[in-house]
Amino acid sequence: MTGTAPGRDPRLGAIHDATRRICAPGGPFEVRTEEVLGERVQVFTARPRHLRELLESASVFGDAECYVFSDGRRVTFSELTGRVASVMDLMSVDYGIGPGDRVAVAAANCPEWIMAFWAATALGAVVVAMNGWWTASEMHSAVELTEPDLVLVDDRRAERLGAVARPTARLGSDWFGEDPGRPLPEAIEVAEDDPALLIFTSGTTGRPKAAVLSHRGVIGYLMLQKFMGARSALLAGPSSGLVGAPVRLAPYPLFHVSGLSMMVGSVMNGSKTVWPLGRFDPARVVALTISEGVNAWGGGSAHVARLLDAPGLEDLPAGQLVSVTVGGSATSPAIIRRVAERFPHLSSTMTTGYGSTETGGLATWAPNWMLQAAPDCVGPVLPTVEVRVTGDAGGVLPDGVEGNVEIRSPYTMLEYCGQPEATAEAVRPGRWVRSGDFGRMEDGLLFIASRRRDLIIRGGENVYPFEIEYRICEHPGVEEAAVFGVDDATFGQVVKAVVVTRPGAVLSPAEVRSFCAENLAYYKVPEEVEVTTQPLPRNASGKVMKHVLAGTAASGFTDDEG
Ligand code: AMP
Repeated sequence: MTGTAPGRDPRLGAIHDATRRICAPGGPFEVRTEEVLGERVQVFTARPRHLRELLESASVFGDAECYVFSDGRRVTFSELTGRVASVMDLMSVDYGIGPGDRVAVAAANCPEWIMAFWAATALGAVVVAMNGWWTASEMHSAVELTEPDLVLVDDRRAERLGAVARPTARLGSDWFGEDPGRPLPEAIEVAEDDPALLIFTSGTTGRPKAAVLSHRGVIGYLMLQKFMGARSALLAGPSSGLVGAPVRLAPYPLFHVSGLSMMVGSVMNGSKTVWPLGRFDPARVVALTISEGVNAWGGGSAHVARLLDAPGLEDLPAGQLVSVTVGGSATSPAIIRRVAERFPHLSSTMTTGYGSTETGGLATWAPNWMLQAAPDCVGPVLPTVEVRVTGDAGGVLPDGVEGNVEIRSPYTMLEYCGQPEATAEAVRPGRWVRSGDFGRMEDGLLFIASRRRDLIIRGGENVYPFEIEYRICEHPGVEEAAVFGVDDATFGQVVKAVVVTRPGAVLSPAEVRSFCAENLAYYKVPEEVEVTTQPLPRNASGKVMKHVLAGTAASGFTDDEG
């Protein structure tokens, strides 16, 4: 990559200083060492110990709005616990759910999904977050794998699922919680490392696995986000306008860690989240943004890209948005450029957070200037998290050498449900969790080169798709690009690019190749280039499904659905 190495930029010192200040003894995010699951790791001293404790704290935000849904339903903080208490009653009395039981939810985003989540976790039960996009056979294999004690399904998924040999209930409006004034039942004992959530890895290939996250893990993810908010406010200074709780758009599916963090984050931060329900309709989302005063847009890269082209965007008051964030995948140069074109006042605000479902959601964070200097840089490691890079034999590699990115923190998954071999492969001795990404550490910063399995080996040379994708996206006629390896008799693999042009742009494969050749070594220049106007196939969390492009799997791509 070009430009000054971000690890030597003086602005990095300010980030480290701010981190030290708020994590110091007596600070709001004081860090100390404790034993978690047999390992000495760092923890935040002041933290909620389980999700019920967090839920109980919601009432401090009083009658402010917590969740607003596009179907018109609204929930304030003071009525949240009452509604959840009603659902807890339904769950425990009618369905016998108690501590350690599993409650699967197979539904599109809806208020009932959220109430079921809080009710189950407050009862000490474990939520199994089923992917709403799954086919019947994927749903059945998830049920077989996780053996839920109750399966909650909406109408559409009920039809798709058909009969299952587990207790099932329709997730109708009675699961919204009828009595907003009801007190929570007596607390049951829940330990921090008890499981809270089974969440399926988004899996861009193969059968999904269910990562088991603890109460500590779910809360830790939100603590890190809260820490980042506090640190950004400190770095920006008092006149930055970064005051008060933001009003966030929440278009992510609830079965993905990004949706989960919005749902739990509202309660952690006392902030309002606005949930567009049903099929993602950019024009409706813009209207909702205006009517609900949303000032923080977030979403997968496809959501954000579609919002930027949405009809009615000209009605959004200038300056209403204070941030746009991409979740679930890299914040690519293309999306940064497009946001800056549409909202010049946000041109230097887009950042990136890196992590995965298995590693507890978040491990590093890079501010905008770092991404501008190196788009593959995902920043310094967050407090209470450790990152290392290892070779295939397990040894830790020195700075600058690319290898397997491994993460250790109190928040990483406990295991893959019912899959001891996959767990042993991912959770290494010392509870270091392999992220499946390939990257390097440099001056204390993490750089992500590609998913390990997307690495292309051309005639013995490693080729990292991100580097080539970022280069292609610098072309003004390009909307997005995906690079992957295709089999080749001579080189083993060669580089192929699928390039999506911007509306009205005309681009030939030869132009793409010569644009790449301007600043990439010859072996990285794609041998094959396909130019298209069709958007790239993405999974529910916004990741490009390269196996679909490469033709190694049947297209599982469906648009987001209600
Ligand atoms: P998920 O478990 O669905 O959240 O997916 C996690 C994976 O998304 C990571 O292992 C990375 O491959 C990718 N990813 C997430 N955040 C970033 C980022 N900021 N930059 C590059 N890749 C990312």
